[in-house]
Amino acid sequence: MSTPELVIKDLHVAVEGKEILKGLSLNVGKGEVHALMGPNGSGKSTLANTLMGHPRYEVTSGDILFKGESVLEMETDERSRLGMFMAFQYPVGIPGLSVANFLRAALNARLAPTATDGNGAMPQRKGINPKEFRTLLREKMALLKMDESFATRYLNDGFSGGEKKRAEILQMALLKPEIAVMDETDSGLDIDALRIVSEGVNALAGPEMGVLVITHYNRILNYIKPQYVHVMVDGRIQVSGGPELALELESRGYDWVRDGKEVVAG
Ligand code: ADP
Ligand code: MG
Repeated sequence: MSTPELVIKDLHVAVEGKEILKGLSLNVGKGEVHALMGPNGSGKSTLANTLMGHPRYEVTSGDILFKGESVLEMETDERSRLGMFMAFQYPVGIPGLSVANFLRAALNARLAPTATDGNGAMPQRKGINPKEFRTLLREKMALLKMDESFATRYLNDGFSGGEKKRAEILQMALLKPEIAVMDETDSGLDIDALRIVSEGVNALAGPEMGVLVITHYNRILNYIKPQYVHVMVDGRIQVSGGPELALELESRGYDWVRDGKEVVAG
């Protein structure tokens, strides 16, 4: 048995002095799809932001290991180069910057050697050449059934909710993270966007990538089939199980998890 790529150990996180995560443990391995569910305010987005190193979230104890190494002291870009990825819930628009140019810059940043690569003798990689990049981009856009004209538009500038999600998924396809975290909670995710995210995850998930889908609504689980479902309440995972747990939440809501802390086998 190999160690899972992402190991979260008894994580405690505070925001502005208030403890939000209160001892959360979770493992996600390559090739696995996990769904993390929970009511509003339970700390789901706090976990996603903490994983990527948002400076506002203070880890007070516990650890986050990625490929066996603690990432707590790493900047966000370093975590990305190691193979972590988070899709933004509300991606920002950048008029004047085309989707293609943005993606090429992102890919080159991802390919740059990390500080932890060690042996200084390694030549710096110059990045992908434009022709190679165009071929790769075309390939990924075809995989995601996207029109090629999309790449020439300005990033998220006037994009619909669904198009913004598409840009995130395309970025994920190019960066090929080993672990992808998608925070899809809250409002603003219409059925169209939901379907796009799901189809993208289904097209990209495989033996080389693990996915953590964070969601308040279980309707996304009609499209993505996770092997593992976790329910978070009050900063901790209270129950874990298989897909049947999501169905149970659909019929019973979250209260039984909060009140009874029943243990579900699986
Ligand atoms: P969820 O995503 O499950 O709805 P959040 O992680 O967004 O939950 O929020 C959990 C709790 O942390 C809430 O009480 C929220 O008010 C608080 N919180 C989260 N982020 C911040 C922040 N940046 N500043 C202040 N409080 C925050
Ligand atoms: Mg949230």
